[in-house]
Amino acid sequence: MIIHKRGHSAASPILADYESERRAYTWPPPADVNIAWQAVDQHAASAARDRVALRCIGRDDSLTELTYLDLHLRTNRFANVLRGLGVGRGERVFTLLGRVPELYVTVLGTLKNRSVLAPLFSAFGPEPIRERLRLGDGRVLVTTPDLYTRKIAPIREALPGLKHVLVTGQDPTPEGALRLEKLMATVGPAFEIPPTEAEDMALLHFTSGTTGKPKGAVHVHGAVAAHMATARYALDLRPGDVYWCTADPGWVTGMSYGVIAPLALGVTLVSDAGEFDARRWYRTLQDQRVSVWYTAPTALRMLMRHGRDLAAGYDLSHLRFIASVGEPLNPEVVLWGQEALGLPIHDNWWQTETGAIMISNYASMDIKPGSMGRPMPGVTAALLDRGADGRARITGGRVTVIEEPGVEGELALRSGWPSMFRGYLNDPERYAKAFAGGWYLSGDVARRDEDGYYWFVARADDVIKSAGHLIGPFEVESVLMEHPAVAEAGVIGKPDAVAGELVKAFVTLKPGYQPTPALRRELTAFGRKRLGAVAPKEIAFDQHLPHTRSGKVMRRLLKARELGLPEGDTSTLES
Ligand code: ATP
Ligand code: MG
Repeated sequence: MIIHKRGHSAASPILADYESERRAYTWPPPADVNIAWQAVDQHAASAARDRVALRCIGRDDSLTELTYLDLHLRTNRFANVLRGLGVGRGERVFTLLGRVPELYVTVLGTLKNRSVLAPLFSAFGPEPIRERLRLGDGRVLVTTPDLYTRKIAPIREALPGLKHVLVTGQDPTPEGALRLEKLMATVGPAFEIPPTEAEDMALLHFTSGTTGKPKGAVHVHGAVAAHMATARYALDLRPGDVYWCTADPGWVTGMSYGVIAPLALGVTLVSDAGEFDARRWYRTLQDQRVSVWYTAPTALRMLMRHGRDLAAGYDLSHLRFIASVGEPLNPEVVLWGQEALGLPIHDNWWQTETGAIMISNYASMDIKPGSMGRPMPGVTAALLDRGADGRARITGGRVTVIEEPGVEGELALRSGWPSMFRGYLNDPERYAKAFAGGWYLSGDVARRDEDGYYWFVARADDVIKSAGHLIGPFEVESVLMEHPAVAEAGVIGKPDAVAGELVKAFVTLKPGYQPTPALRRELTAFGRKRLGAVAPKEIAFDQHLPHTRSGKVMRRLLKARELGLPEGDTSTLES
């Protein structure tokens, strides 16, 4: 199944002749650059200064707009506040904020000062916050008074390195914290960004913790070259766009494409502080006249659950492009997008470590639903032959690239794109192990078809081995989702004396369906008919599949619970 794309306007920055143009593309030479200059100051010094940079919708539906000039002046003030506090180059500033205007000011002001920004999910509990602040050696934390009282005050004593906590909002200021607005009022609105090297550390991002303890990935200012180029190609972002990225700013997507890339490209960025709610989201798309929308499979599956009729009640005619990331995007969802939203959904693949989109279904490309797409311009991807542990086989420092199509291997990227992470914080050994023979090893298993499209199979440690077959959970989940009763599924391998592992599926039902033995039999038969030997042998109904806060099904937790094993690190589990 292919969704053909035709007739893109000449103004589109997309590639017309995929192969030759992609291969010809090279990353810009690593010039010294500051992300915040790229995102704010260059526009404030141009005709774009009065354009709306940021439109923040509050939980209470209030609207705050900042022009590029406003953002320039506020981020200058924030940089001056840091300077006044004696916080310098390379020192870490953490945010524990939702999508409020202060978040954007803090992020960009911190980068202007050449300090390092580390975003946290505002829904974290005190323990994961403490762990990350300690690991990241947080000097400053910016948060809300409420989060401060509930989550920071109890752990403050345990964080001697945390020198300053700044809180948003109005008086009274909680004890032990400083009022951000007051500090901003005492400093001037002028700040000249000091010379910043492309290799200066800019961001510290913790991974989603889907497979275990979250790792701290280090990113540099030069990464902005990749943020900008990939947003043009993979998100089709153009001047004049109104763009909405639903990812939480505590996750890398919410930073690379929820703050940096859109501002660097000078578009109007919409942010919505409200929780996921199908009606609210459709309303935001409609009322804000969003033209480009970047979201995640779990959100799209939830919209799907609400049916086509709900979507039909809104005017989504301004939407031009929808993209998704974070998890495999089931083909069913891509087709639903076409039918219910009038647009197909462009899947793309990347990781906290890669800092930017690496593989995608471009705007100009025919979409193969269920595929992640093809490598971005400047990106060389490959599949590597795997050893018994499921990871790339490394012999004497060398790896073997699989040339023929259709064969599964570990997805690897040729080192050297600008947003490549520069380290796992305090874990150089782990970082070194992520590379072999000039390749970065992603830990994901994929295959490539004759047309060069990559298809996600599984995370290397999620592959199920059953009766001599190797099965990726995603394939099984996608088939189950084709059944009208199924809204979402999580699939694991369960140890079995005979088969090695047997496939077990946890299934969330759509409204109107009951978890009856008859439905279970029907789903089992449906799976067997479609998947044969690799169909789930066991099916359990579960209306609350565990998700990470970045929206991924946590299969390792399903498995631990099934086997009665310890749950491991659950700091990123959505409660
Ligand atoms: P951790 O590394 O802590 O276990 P994580 O890998 O989930 O967490 P992220 O960096 O947020 O942390 O996610 C990257 C991973 O998400 C990829 O390695 C891949 O497994 C999955 N992923 C992202 N996009 C896609 C996609 N389009 N299709 C399939 N899988 C995807
Ligand atoms: Mg990972």
